Amino acid sequence: MPSADVRGPEPVALSWRIKERPGMTTVEFVGEIDENADFVELRRRLRGAVAFQLAEVRRINSCGVREWVNFVRDLPHVTDLSFSHCSPAIVTQLNMIYNFRGNARIRSFYAPYVCEKCGQEEEKLVDVSAQGGGQVIPSFACSQCGATMEFDDLPERYLSFLAES
Ligand SMILES: [Zn+2]
Repeated sequence: MPSADVRGPEPVALSWRIKERPGMTTVEFVGEIDENADFVELRRRLRGAVAFQLAEVRRINSCGVREWVNFVRDLPHVTDLSFSHCSPAIVTQLNMIYNFRGNARIRSFYAPYVCEKCGQEEEKLVDVSAQGGGQVIPSFACSQCGATMEFDDLPERYLSFLAES
């Protein structure tokens, strides 16, 4: 029986939702960035200040990286570009591919945290501007037991993209 709510292990094709407000266009991306990603229409439409929300991009393959880099480096009508809510998959690419961001500023990203008291694992949203330029790792309380959670990766690796911000 077909059900719209079931998501199997099949790749989820990339899609996006554009929200236009005066002075700011926001694009929410959902799915996987691979060789099927086609940014031609989107590139044509974007102008002015643009913010990409990247929380729901869960996978990017090497062909997708190439498509993405070509996309962000050629946005002739975009005057200001920022990335927010970067998923761990996006953070990995920001750390490995120096031009993955194009000219974008990184506003916020998700980071892995673990509670050593109860084992709870969560991705927490970290606001870059709130970090004051230093690589200070914010602390979060566990949603299950309230204990202070630990950053669950190597900070110098996971946060290396911040050095370029
Ligand atoms: Zn806990």
